[in-house]
Amino acid sequence: MEKTITVLPGDGIGPEVTEAAVKVLETIAKRYNHTFKLQFALIGGAAIDACENPLPEETISLCSDSDAILLGAVGGPKWDQNPSHLRPEKGLLAIRKHFGLYANIRPVKAIPALLESSPLKKEIAENVDMVIVRELTGGLYFAEPRKKTEDYALDTLVYTRPEIERIVDTAFQLARSRRGKLASVDKANVLDSSKLWREIVEEKKQGYPDVEVEHMLVDSTAMKLITKPGAFDVIVTENMFGDILSDEASVITGSLGMLPSASTRGDGFGLYEPVHGSAPDIAGQNKANPAACILSAAMMLREAFQMETEAAAIEEAVFSVLNDGYFTGDLQTKGRRVLSTSDWTDKVLDELDSEF
Ligand code: ATP
Ligand code: MG
Repeated sequence: MEKTITVLPGDGIGPEVTEAAVKVLETIAKRYNHTFKLQFALIGGAAIDACENPLPEETISLCSDSDAILLGAVGGPKWDQNPSHLRPEKGLLAIRKHFGLYANIRPVKAIPALLESSPLKKEIAENVDMVIVRELTGGLYFAEPRKKTEDYALDTLVYTRPEIERIVDTAFQLARSRRGKLASVDKANVLDSSKLWREIVEEKKQGYPDVEVEHMLVDSTAMKLITKPGAFDVIVTENMFGDILSDEASVITGSLGMLPSASTRGDGFGLYEPVHGSAPDIAGQNKANPAACILSAAMMLREAFQMETEAAAIEEAVFSVLNDGYFTGDLQTKGRRVLSTSDWTDKVLDELDSEF
C-alpha cells in the first residue's frame, strides 16, 4: 500500500521519539512492501520560533494532503510566558479543531514486564486491558459563554445531540470489536448534559444488541479504576471527565512513556501521538522512552490503514525488548538494563528484523 504520513516532531523530546517511530515505520515499509511517504512539518514551540504561529498554514496543508498524522509532543518552559495566541498548546488545539478530531482514544493495557512499576498490586494491575474514548471537541472546555472578572467566573457545559451521538457510536463500534462491554460515564444525578448523554446511550444501544452497557457515575468510576480496573473494556465519556479519568488510568500500567493515543474523526484519519508531554526535563539527552510514540505509530497502522499484521508486529517487538530486560530510564524495574533512546530503538528494529 502507498500512504502519506505527516510527521510533526514538535518540542522537547518530541523530535527524539518521532525519530524512533519513523525508523520503525521505515522498517515496516521495507518488510511488508509498503510505501510510506513521510513528510515533516512544524507545530507548537518549534513553529512559533520559526514563524510566530503554533500551527502554520503549511503544516495544515501538508496534513490535509496525508492519510494520517504522527505527532511527538508540544510545549515547554521556553514559551510559558508567551501571550495566549503564541502558546505551543494552541497548535494542538487548533489542529484537532481544524480536522474535527472529536474522538480521543487511549488504550491502557498491562505490560507483563512492567507490572513492578505499577502503583497497584500486581494481581490488580495485571488484568488491565481497556480503552478510554474521550469526547474531545465539546463540553466545558469549549462552550460559550465564558467569563472571568475579579470576583466572578463562568464556564458553560454544552453538548448537542449529534456531538454525543457520534462519540457514542465510536465507542459502541470499538466495544463490539473487543470484549463487548461499554461503560458510559457521566454525572446524570446532577448534570442535565449528562442526562441527555445517558438518554442517547440508551437509544443507541438498540443498534448494538451484542454490546453490554453499564451507566456509571464519574466519581465511582474514579474509584473503580483503582480498585477493579480489570473490569473495564471500553469507557466512553465527555471531555473533562475523560481528561481526568484517562490521566488516572495512564498511571496504572507503570509508565507514561508507554502509552499511545489517537484523536480521530470516525474515518480512520487522525492524529496519532504519545500520551506523555514534551518532558523538557530530559529533552535532548537521548534518554526519553520512545515506546509510546512507536506504539502510536502501530495504532496508526491499525486504525488508519487497517494494517493489523504490521501493527501487531511492532507491538510484539516492543514487548519482547522489554521482556528481554531492556528498558529506558523512566521504567523503574529491578535488574533492568537501561539504554538510551537510540539504543533501545535499535533493539526494537533488531527484533522486527528477527521476526522475519
Ligand atoms: P504536558 O502538559 O505536555 O502533558 P506534563 O507536564 O504532563 O506535560 P510530561 O511532559 O508528560 O508532563 O512529563 C511528566 C514527567 O514524565 C517528566 O518528568 C518527564 O520527564 C517524564 N516523561 C514523560 N514522557 C516520558 C518519556 N517518553 N520518557 C521518559 N520520561 C518521560
Ligand atoms: Mg500532562
